Amino acid sequence: MTLAPNVYDAEPIPQSARAEIDKLLKSGDLFRYTAAKDAPVALLERDFAEMMGSQYALAVSSCSAALFLSLKALGLHPGARVLIPAFTFAAVPSSVVHAECVPVLCDVKDNYRIDLNDYEGKLDANIDAVIISHMRGHTSDMDAIMALCDARGIPVIEDAAHSLGTLWAGRNIGTIGRVGCFSFQSYKLVNAGEGGIMISDDADMVAQAVIMSGAYEHNWAKHMAGSDPALEAAFAKWQNRLPLYNLRMGNLSAAIIRPQLAEIPRRVRDGRANHDYVADRLNTSPWLHVPDKLKQEERAPDSIQFNLVGLSDAETAAFAKAASERGVKVQVFGQSTDNARAFWNWKFLDGPVPDLPQTRAMLMRACDVRLPARLSREELDIISEALVIAAQEVMGTPRAYGT
Ligand SMILES: *Cc1c(COP(=O)(O)O)cnc(C)c1O
Repeated sequence: MTLAPNVYDAEPIPQSARAEIDKLLKSGDLFRYTAAKDAPVALLERDFAEMMGSQYALAVSSCSAALFLSLKALGLHPGARVLIPAFTFAAVPSSVVHAECVPVLCDVKDNYRIDLNDYEGKLDANIDAVIISHMRGHTSDMDAIMALCDARGIPVIEDAAHSLGTLWAGRNIGTIGRVGCFSFQSYKLVNAGEGGIMISDDADMVAQAVIMSGAYEHNWAKHMAGSDPALEAAFAKWQNRLPLYNLRMGNLSAAIIRPQLAEIPRRVRDGRANHDYVADRLNTSPWLHVPDKLKQEERAPDSIQFNLVGLSDAETAAFAKAASERGVKVQVFGQSTDNARAFWNWKFLDGPVPDLPQTRAMLMRACDVRLPARLSREELDIISEALVIAAQEVMGTPRAYGT
């Protein structure tokens, strides 16, 4: 049997990054504010904002830092209630707690997207802000969400950590809410080990986030490439009035990230093709189901999620074991011990575990398999086959109709 590919290996960093890194190592100029202008971090912010069609970008140490600074820049009072989906990564409720706010969890459907009925009900329960987590790149109905939030004047933060390159009705994900936050951690589309960036058109919020990210004294001036009266006024307004959390990005990270921006279209194209190819194969099995995307959505996946249909807990465990024996590691979100995407493991939250049976049921049968853009058709076939056969081994061959 041909071996299944290692889906955890990263792509090499483009050669063009090496020259820039070498230059930084020679000069020792690793801090974003040493140079008067054109530091690698500032160039990354300029290019990223332009690529996304946003007015401003602020690069920071992680997407979690970007989410935290976004919440702080909204000026929420301690104890403010922030609505988040119950299917997300533990970093999201953590950022809310860190901002001294209270996360409120809403139900998610078995297509991994927000349940709009539950959402609308919870929005009216004293919610001050929302974070929409495009978990694993699955986009909830952003038209409906924006309409509901706009009608109530509730600001929307997009957690697009794992969604770079996704489009919603032709718009870049991360540009639909007031702020969009992205991650450059190694398991995301652009890999710098660690790093994050936020984008926004809101000068007042960006000025606050820049200062709180660690632009002490007048270092904010290095965030203004040209004349921008709105931003300048906001910096003047917030000077000396905000705590510094020092969540800056360093020049080395920016030097690793910037050359990868040019790789995004290829990674998105290949990742989408890989995902759709494997999805078609998995959907031939009566035991496996890959939910459809919404029609406004153009995805940029680097992994695939599918639901086990009609399997008990024991059969679910047997399926994961059979797939693993064929070299494909399947994580069932709710079944693996201490999974950071299972809301009942967020024991750092106050109060009892919320009662969200729909999300819980989804997490108990939803499988997660990495599918990096670099995989070949042959490797995709090995993965698809391993999953389909593993289900067959556990559940038996389904009877054809009429027999
Ligand atoms: C990875 C991830 C985060 C956290 O990103 P960091 O850069 O590691 O802080 C947040 N939300 C989602 C949906 C993620 O996938």
